[in-house]
Amino acid sequence: MNRTFAIIKPDAVAAGNIGGIVNLIEKNGFKIIAMRMQHLTRKEAEGFYAVHKGKGFYDELVVFMTESPVVLLALEREDAVAKWREVMGATNPANAAAGTVRKLYASSIGRNAAHGSDSDENAAIELAYFFRTSELN
Ligand code: ADP
Ligand code: MG
Repeated sequence: MNRTFAIIKPDAVAAGNIGGIVNLIEKNGFKIIAMRMQHLTRKEAEGFYAVHKGKGFYDELVVFMTESPVVLLALEREDAVAKWREVMGATNPANAAAGTVRKLYASSIGRNAAHGSDSDENAAIELAYFFRTSELN
């Protein structure tokens, strides 16, 4: 068993797709370890996406991620990082496989409904960025 960090992004929360996405999470065998709705501050979003600083889409990404509340999740299952990225689908919904979160709920490469960690190392960093140790027991 291992863990990954997920975000249901502002577009999906605003469109009423929390339930649809949580359903996919549960249907795919993830245990929800922690879950919280939060309206990110600019500082929180900038820090979370610091790895993308300097890229053309960084400012647009920070504005998008702070426009309205998100849902933050700690997820657990076998091969959690790769499996959640598979369930989310490709970054650009135009390239996402049928039935994936992004094919079902994303509207563009930027407004793409969900986040998922890209490695076990980054999952640990991202989980610690948003959750206290006591919430991850
Ligand atoms: P992923 O979320 O699939 O891991 P990246 O880490 O490459 O993708 O990018 C982080 C987020 O930045 C994406 O999910 C998306 O919201 C946004 N993004 C990535 N590439 C672009 C782009 N070319 N134009 C606008 N937004 C983008
Ligand atoms: Mg990424």
